[in-house]
Amino acid sequence: MGAETMEKCHLCGNDTEKVINKPYKYDECGLNVILFGIIQYHCPNCNESYASIPNIRKLHRFIGIHICKNRKALLKSEEIKFLRKDIHLKAKEFAQALGVTPSAVSQWENGKNEIDEAYDRLLRSIYITYASEQSDHFICHGVINLFKELPAKRKKIKQPKEIVLTPREWLNHPDEPCFA
Ligand SMILES: [Zn+2]
Repeated sequence: MGAETMEKCHLCGNDTEKVINKPYKYDECGLNVILFGIIQYHCPNCNESYASIPNIRKLHRFIGIHICKNRKALLKSEEIKFLRKDIHLKAKEFAQALGVTPSAVSQWENGKNEIDEAYDRLLRSIYITYASEQSDHFICHGVINLFKELPAKRKKIKQPKEIVLTPREWLNHPDEPCFA
């Protein structure tokens, strides 16, 4: 952990210390994501800490694809919200796209109701399609296999496994196939 004067604290204007090699819990995205290899700044005066995250747009897309491809359980409320926001849909537009009422979406997102099997798959399909449209490459080859791999009867899990990433992964994301 190296300490050198860097930029000023955005709260109090004090010099911050640069912190390297410390995992950063990226709570701001609403998911259980740990980032390694991120430069962080700590203010010894007011104890504020923040991170310098390169290309957040690409990071979020990487996380979204990761969830669609790797979550075997039904999507959790915060994952649904994350995916919706990453494709820039308001709750109402999202509801229209899925063919449900806005209140169904808000119940999924605040955890009052569980998303069901079909809508979980539809949501993932929409996300993967959207991400592919925004990319020069296919985001996900073998999409049929991806959905075949999901168990027929799925349960929501209490705590999804944390997602651990380094900038190398999302900055050089090659749009790899679902099944290499
Ligand atoms: Zn400060």
